[in-house]
Amino acid sequence: MPTRARAQDTLNYFERHLNSYLEDLRQLVEIESPTGYEPGIKRAALWLQTQFASLGELSRFDSDSGPVLRLFRRGYGPRVLLLAHYDTVHPLGSWSKLWHEEKGRIYGPGVYDMKAGLLFILWALRYLNRGGLEHPNLEVLLTPDEEVGSRSSRIFIEDAARGADYALVLEPPTGAGDLKVHRKGVGWYVVKVHGKAAHQGVEPEKGVNAIVEAARQVLKVIEAQDLEKGTTLGPNVARGGTAGNVVADYAEVLVDMRAWTLAEAERVDRFMRALKPENPGARLELEGGLNRPPMEPTPESMELFELARGVAVDLGFDSQPGKVGGGSDGNFTAALGVPTLDGLGAAGAGAHQKSEHVIKKELPRRLALLSELLVRLTHDA
Ligand SMILES: [Zn+2]
Repeated sequence: MPTRARAQDTLNYFERHLNSYLEDLRQLVEIESPTGYEPGIKRAALWLQTQFASLGELSRFDSDSGPVLRLFRRGYGPRVLLLAHYDTVHPLGSWSKLWHEEKGRIYGPGVYDMKAGLLFILWALRYLNRGGLEHPNLEVLLTPDEEVGSRSSRIFIEDAARGADYALVLEPPTGAGDLKVHRKGVGWYVVKVHGKAAHQGVEPEKGVNAIVEAARQVLKVIEAQDLEKGTTLGPNVARGGTAGNVVADYAEVLVDMRAWTLAEAERVDRFMRALKPENPGARLELEGGLNRPPMEPTPESMELFELARGVAVDLGFDSQPGKVGGGSDGNFTAALGVPTLDGLGAAGAGAHQKSEHVIKKELPRRLALLSELLVRLTHDA
């Protein structure tokens, strides 16, 4: 069958099955699974295990953050890694209605980031499972802690990526609906300042004020920004001191760091490690570093993007190569040299907010995009 006609067929399939897909999505969204909330994370994992079990060889690893589910399904040609996380940022009970639909939008905790996209994988597998369609070797990884930097999942992601020819990430597309080829690298630092306490009234001259020193360090740190290159440093949390009449002997500042290129991230890292106190009586200590390296586009990842874009065009829409400042697990796979395409999830808006939603009428063609892309990758080794 010509590829365009097959893409249309795929779209028809998902239009016919939209209600069943939505029923699955509702069930998964209603299992609240904020990162670190063990009962919810376990229930969500169990639900996913049940759904995926018949679609390949499924294994479950119990990490410190919760179950990591890994599914392998044999196919032809290249090996494709599909990545999704099932944790959300929303604290338990923070939504009065876990699921509601209004004006073509579906609202719920984690619906957009990224339970809708995660279930694209389930439904793509079901679609391919009907038989008749060749697909590549597939490895699916479903993780419980992306929203806190993938502390426990990272080794599973990197291990799976080492054997993969491509990585597809089911995070949402950009606000404009574009697939993502470029993400900033993300890091964090805690600058800890040790000063010396003294009575503010009796002998303040004997103290070393850690807050004053921390303030000086903050001004230095933001000098390392390069806004033209998109390198930012955000000193966004500060703590220090004990009482109004005591010279502050301790202060700390948490700094968020983002950069489009590894070269910039490394420049900032060297800068942070070279920080020196201005007051010789104070002492500095640094914690943290680069967490997610930048996901930088490569000729191979742009080829993958173009293949996906061709599918989108056959389905009646288009995509530019999107770039965003937020990191994802795609940063890890890209850093290992695996051509990575992100943003294959559901269109919508409001990630990490109460306005989080997906757009219902966009769902079938985004589902079809993933499924048809997999079919085309089979012969693209
Ligand atoms: Zn996400």
